[in-house]
Amino acid sequence: MPRMNVETLIIGAGAAGMMCAAHAGNDVLVIDHAKAAGEKIRISGGGRCNFTNLYASPQNFISQNPHFAKSALKRYTQWDFIALVDQYGIKWHEKTLGQLFCDTTAKDIIAMLRAEMEKSGAKLWLQTDVKVISRNAEGFRVIVEKSGRSTTIQAQKLVVACGGKSIPKMGATGLAYQIASQFDIPVVAPRPGLVPLTFSDEKFKPLAGVAAPSRVTTARTSFDEAILFTHRGLSGPAVLQASSYWEEGEAITLNLDPSGTLLQKLQQDRSTQGRKALTSVLAQHLPTRLVEFLSADLNLSGNIADQSDRRLGEISAALSAWEVKPAGSEGYRTAEVTLGGIDTDALSSQTMMSKSVPNLYFIGECVDVTGWLGGYNFQWAWSSGWAAGKAIAAG
Ligand SMILES: Cc1cc2nc3c(=O)[nH]c(=O)nc-3n(C[C@H](O)[C@H](O)[C@H](O)COP(=O)(O)OP(=O)(O)OC[C@H]3O[C@@H](n4cnc5c(N)ncnc54)[C@H](O)[C@@H]3O)c2cc1C
Repeated sequence: MPRMNVETLIIGAGAAGMMCAAHAGNDVLVIDHAKAAGEKIRISGGGRCNFTNLYASPQNFISQNPHFAKSALKRYTQWDFIALVDQYGIKWHEKTLGQLFCDTTAKDIIAMLRAEMEKSGAKLWLQTDVKVISRNAEGFRVIVEKSGRSTTIQAQKLVVACGGKSIPKMGATGLAYQIASQFDIPVVAPRPGLVPLTFSDEKFKPLAGVAAPSRVTTARTSFDEAILFTHRGLSGPAVLQASSYWEEGEAITLNLDPSGTLLQKLQQDRSTQGRKALTSVLAQHLPTRLVEFLSADLNLSGNIADQSDRRLGEISAALSAWEVKPAGSEGYRTAEVTLGGIDTDALSSQTMMSKSVPNLYFIGECVDVTGWLGGYNFQWAWSSGWAAGKAIAAG
């Protein structure tokens, strides 16, 4: 079997792996089983890649140890990545809430990372499968298979950058967790995050396609953004965000009056358009189909003029505290990220190196650091990839 030696072997040519390769110094080989590097970058942000967030800070990340991400995020910030994007002349814009997207295509970000890898001399092998990993005196021995031929790669340092379990169709395998288990490194149970929630009774089917601004509250936090009713349940940014904090069996609360002004508006409407039906007036403030859907449950009969202050107060209160109990989520098939992962207690927050296995690094989504929706997950990939790369280059 052919043998080769490299200083650093990186498994995974995604966001974190490519960033790490660009900074890890000499003699770096990146391997990936996919046909192309950065496939998730390519499809991200509707093809325009929400590559970072202006307001990225440690509060936007979920982890058993909320302090772990601080060092990497501080040492390689959103401003560093924006400077890199600017250096390559990639035009971008802020869409909303600090979310930065490419003007043209996410492929520009992949081309930039590939160019950075080439500049540092890193090699890339695609369509390469990992067969066996073992540890020996010189580091790590990894048997890979490419085009039906096996090769033994002897690497001093091994970086695991092969992502989480989200979207198996895009090449996600969960290999990182297997490697962790092989080396007795603890893993926080992975689960789907940023994922639509589902309901067993298909009760929202008549509302499929309806969107409304809302505050979605879980037992742990709340998010103010749009919600979207789907055939199987609830989606939209506020629900995706909340899904990362939701646990099975829990109810969530939808506040369809997030600005808290509905009662006042209805009282005004009563004096200016008293002869209109209550449902027609409500439909000026909420989607018509949603008002129709709720009308029986909330007993929305009569004209607005017939409603007392107390009654209008009851209706507003009900609309701002609609409790629903999801049965589950759409799962890894559509989840944007995987929550949980390599336990951060087992890693150095400065270098991403394992505390128990020298020269073994974990970066990106496979680590128990998960960002909110809005460019935060790529920022973690850039920051953790950079931190490991710099540490490796420093020897
Ligand atoms: C549809 C979608 C849209 C998204 N949009 C955004 C967005 O706009 N902004 C944002 O911040 N985040 C977004 N995300 C999340 C973001 O893509 C991930 O958080 C990020 O890609 C993680 O980077 P990573 O390098 O850790 O993993 P990945 O980018 O997933 O890279 C892992 C690499 O490892 C390879 N690999 C996996 N298993 C193996 C194996 N067994 N052998 C060899 N190679 C393997 C994969 O082929 C892949 O190339 C989106 C995710 C999805 C699914």
